[in-house]
Amino acid sequence: MKKIEMVDLKGQYQKIKERVDSSILNVIETTAFVNGPEVHQFQKELETYLGVKHVIPCANGTDALQIAMMGLGLKPGDEVITADFTFAATVEVIALLQLTPVLVDVDPVNFNIDVEAIKKSITPKTKAIVPVHLFGLAANMDEIMAIAEEHNLYVIEDNAQGIGADYTSKDGTKMKTGTIGHVASTSFFPSKNLGCYGDGGAIFTNDDDLAHTIRGIVNHGMYVRYHHDVVGVNSRLDSIQAAVLRAKLPLLDEYNAARRNAARKYSEAFAGVKNIVTPTGFCNNTQTICDVCDCHVFHQYTLKIINADRDALVNHLNEKGIPCGVYYPIPLHLQKAYRDERYKEEDFTVTNQLINEVISLPMHTELDDEQIDFITKTVINFIEKY
Ligand SMILES: *Cc1c(COP(=O)(O)O)cnc(C)c1O
Repeated sequence: MKKIEMVDLKGQYQKIKERVDSSILNVIETTAFVNGPEVHQFQKELETYLGVKHVIPCANGTDALQIAMMGLGLKPGDEVITADFTFAATVEVIALLQLTPVLVDVDPVNFNIDVEAIKKSITPKTKAIVPVHLFGLAANMDEIMAIAEEHNLYVIEDNAQGIGADYTSKDGTKMKTGTIGHVASTSFFPSKNLGCYGDGGAIFTNDDDLAHTIRGIVNHGMYVRYHHDVVGVNSRLDSIQAAVLRAKLPLLDEYNAARRNAARKYSEAFAGVKNIVTPTGFCNNTQTICDVCDCHVFHQYTLKIINADRDALVNHLNEKGIPCGVYYPIPLHLQKAYRDERYKEEDFTVTNQLINEVISLPMHTELDDEQIDFITKTVINFIEKY
C-alpha cells in the first residue's frame, strides 16, 4: 500500500508534471514575474469558471479577507459577525482592522455558522457577516442573505475551503460559493482544493465599483501610477503561482469529484457503526439531509466521535501510520487573542462540544481504495472496543 498522506500533493503533481513544469518554465523565460499575462489569464479563466464578474488575485487567503473588508469601507468599532468554529484567519483580520469581531456558535450537523445565533448577535453597530463554507460545504446562504438585507449588512463569504462548491437557493438558482454575498475571499494555499505551489489568494465580487476599489487597494492604493488615493497594501499573486493555477483549474471539478468519491466510500464503510457520526449537511439540491451530495467539495472529511475517546483514536491512527487532524481543537472565543467579556459559555455549546468530538481523516485527490479500506477498518476496529 502507498504511504497514506493527509494531503498527497506529490502524487497529484506527478500526474500533471509536464504541464506544470512547462508553464513554470515559460514564466521564467518571459521574466514577467509579477502582474504578468499568466495572472491576467488566470483571473479571466476563474471568472468564467465561477460565473462571477470580477476576480482580483492577491497574495493569500488572509489578505483576501482583509482587503475585502477594507474595500467595503468598514470602520474601527464596526461589528462583524463570524463563526466561532473556523480557522483563525477569519477573526484575525477583523481584529487587525480594529473592527469588533463577534463570534457566534455553529450548527451541530453541518458545522457552519448558526443562523439563529447570527440573528441574536445583531446590534446597531453590526456591519457585516462572514460565513465560512467550512470543510467545503456551503453555509446557509439563503437565510444569511435575507438577514443581511433586512439589517442592511454586508456578506463576505470566506470561500477558502469551498472553491468549486455549488449552492442551490430555495428558488432553484444554482451558484458557485463565493459568488452569492457582496464579496468573497479564497485561498490557493497548497492544501486547499485549488492549491498553488506557494501562497496565493483571490477576492471575488459582482460589484463593479467594489472591484475597482479593491484593485487599487491590492496595489498600494494606486488607481493611476504613483497617485495614492487610499491606503492600500501590497498583495499580489505571482506569475509562477498563476501558471500552476492555470494548469490545475481545468481539473478542479475532477479533483472535487475525486474528493466526493473518497468521502462516499468513507461514509459507506462507517454507516451504522456506533459512536461515529459521518458528515451530513443540509443538501440544498435535494432539500433533504444527505450524507454526500454535490454541494459538498470535502476540503475535509470530518467525523464526530461520540461516547468514545477521540484523542485516543488520534493516537491510535498515528501509530498505524494514518495521519489525521483535529480541525479545530480550540474555539476562537477561548483563544487568548480573541477573548471578550461579551462572550458567555452557554452561547457556545456546539463549538465547545465539537472541539472534543471532531476528527478529520486523510482527504485528497489521490486516495485509493486500498488506503480507504485500511483507514476505515482501523477506525472501526478501534471504535468497536467502546
Ligand atoms: C486557509 C484559510 C484561510 C487563509 O488562507 P491563507 O491563504 O492561508 O492565508 C482563511 N480562512 C479559512 C477558512 C481557511 O481555511
